[in-house]
Amino acid sequence: MYSERQEKIIDIVKKRGPITGRDIAEILGVTRGALRTDFSVLTKDMVVASKTKIGYSYLGSGNPAGKKLGKDDVSNYMSVPNILSEETTVYEAIVSIFLKDTGSIYVTKDGLLSGVVSRKDLLKHMMGGNDSRQSPIGMIMTRMPNIVYCYKDETIHEAAEKMVEHEIDSLPVVEEIGFNRYKVIGKVSKTTITKIFVEEFKG
Ligand code: ADP
Repeated sequence: MYSERQEKIIDIVKKRGPITGRDIAEILGVTRGALRTDFSVLTKDMVVASKTKIGYSYLGSGNPAGKKLGKDDVSNYMSVPNILSEETTVYEAIVSIFLKDTGSIYVTKDGLLSGVVSRKDLLKHMMGGNDSRQSPIGMIMTRMPNIVYCYKDETIHEAAEKMVEHEIDSLPVVEEIGFNRYKVIGKVSKTTITKIFVEEFKG
């Protein structure tokens, strides 16, 4: 399943890990850059783990849970999103996050994704002394085109990567129905990822 070079890398990490990417490259007589794809495959499959400043360590082959983890499609795990329109007041939005037990709200205009409102957005608005019964969430939301989203056929790992990179708690799962026009069909959150993790590693 792995290339000859990937097998060699596994062998080196098994025997000498933790070992830096540079040292592995030196042993193999290639540049660090030439190994980028190999490292990416092996860390994604959780055969080796990479830690900044420490290098690569061996996690174990034949770990089906580790290999499967994060490779499934978003569509298998996405949850029901809390969707409100731009005119909804901040007060109503706060009530809805309690009633629906959710953190993020996806905002739509004419049925299309137009923004995201998080708990902190709502708190910030309240702390500013604004009238929550008068202000629409359209006024405080993070707007398109700055919304980070994913599609239902992306992997859970890709979705998790986006959340980590952008430091956000959730992603709307969207369907593109025209140029820059997205319909929200689901949600992936840090809770989704935690549930998958618990399920994969139980027992
Ligand atoms: P909280 O603010 O409650 O910790 P987040 O970390 O998700 O929740 O939100 C941080 C900021 O990022 C907020 O201003 C929010 O509007 C924005 N945000 C949340 N989700 C997204 C997203 N998917 N795309 C772009 N911005 C987002």
